[in-house]
Amino acid sequence: MHKNTLSKRLLTLLLLLLAFTATTTATLAQVNDNQDEEITKMVSEISAQNLRALVEKMVSFETRHTLSTTTDKKRGIGAAREWVMSEFEKYAKASGGRLTVEMDRFVIKADGRRVPQDTEMANVMATLKGSDPNDNRVIIVGAHLDSRATDVMDAKSKAPGANDDASGVAIVMEMARIMASRQFPATLVFVAFQGEEQGLYGSRHLAERAKQEGWNLVAMLNNDIVGNSYSGETGLHDNTRVRVFSEGTPANETEEMARLRRTLGSENDSPSRTLARYMKMTGEAYIDQIEVVLGYRADRFLRGGDHTPFNQQGFAAVRMSEMNEDFDHQHQNVRVENGTQYGDLIEFMDFEYLRKNTAVNLATMASLGRAPYAPEAVSVITANLTNKTDLTWQAPAKGKKPAGYYVLMRETSSPVWQKKFFVKDTKTTIGYSKDNYFFAVQAVDAAGNASLPVIPVPAR
Ligand SMILES: [Zn+2]
Repeated sequence: MHKNTLSKRLLTLLLLLLAFTATTTATLAQVNDNQDEEITKMVSEISAQNLRALVEKMVSFETRHTLSTTTDKKRGIGAAREWVMSEFEKYAKASGGRLTVEMDRFVIKADGRRVPQDTEMANVMATLKGSDPNDNRVIIVGAHLDSRATDVMDAKSKAPGANDDASGVAIVMEMARIMASRQFPATLVFVAFQGEEQGLYGSRHLAERAKQEGWNLVAMLNNDIVGNSYSGETGLHDNTRVRVFSEGTPANETEEMARLRRTLGSENDSPSRTLARYMKMTGEAYIDQIEVVLGYRADRFLRGGDHTPFNQQGFAAVRMSEMNEDFDHQHQNVRVENGTQYGDLIEFMDFEYLRKNTAVNLATMASLGRAPYAPEAVSVITANLTNKTDLTWQAPAKGKKPAGYYVLMRETSSPVWQKKFFVKDTKTTIGYSKDNYFFAVQAVDAAGNASLPVIPVPAR
């Protein structure tokens, strides 16, 4: 009898706990976007075997050090660049002339640091021109082709750079292959940077060029160290999570931008953070068994990446990196020491994991590239004290006409968007207080492809 009562109590407690957990989960859930069938199709075409073949080929150049030979046909950065170029040209054949390929050469003067003498470098770029001539948006996906050994100045030793960063370049190339034959209103740029390890030279060159030429660059996705799922140091194995780093306060923030940030409390809503959140929402909607972990910092300690020069020029740019890095297989001469194999070798990579990370990039780029322009003049009306939220905005002046808008909402302490309201009109009243939630507005097409969210500014 006594025992029975106890188990009944335990059962009640368990049920209560379960109910509580369910409620908590429901509150914390993030909204996932709808799926565009065409994007699902593209995602299904990503092949782990292709990615492996691409990385194997890059490793075969023995070193891709920025200061290595450019005249040898089989070895060094020159041969590697030529090969990436020729692959891009193959993909271009399926594009009906819309994919153009370019070796963007530039000279870096001796810098007294990691470039001892004036050196010609080159980014290999493939540009898929937007199908809508009135759409001037540009989206970049990039990774660095150059590699290094233990000594960053050593241009002779083997530097296979399988994971750092042939993995990222393989993502870029596989995406170009699949996307070249498809239509996107926005222009997509696929780039293999050079000079990353010597000081982010390739990405700085392209970021400055984008600024000077006035590109309407809406997003830059950097992929660096994305294909290994195991850390020997910690024994942690994780092939279901990937990190996306994004700056909090923009590198180019002005006094005026800072004032607005303080007014809104929007230190967690920089353009780059908004892009990272979009990547999480979109990637997780399309790809099974992958979680995008938002890294609330521009990069890891002691490390930099090719997104940084884009941030410095005022563009939204993020970095994807695997969950558990293995530092025995990065920036290390290939050698065995005390029974441990060092070096950035292909045998330590996980190509199924790399396939999923490719898919997150592809879904993000495709969704953004097909979405309408973002809404304009997005405002939250602060004229009255009310427990509801009045939002107004304008249809984008350019690009295709949106089918409607998503109003996104989250608690101020939540990292992700939690509720989504579809609105046909360019204004709405939401039955939640603007004091207790953050809001943003996206323009969306009929297939569910949404623009980047725009954070409203106060208006009366
Ligand atoms: Zn790297």
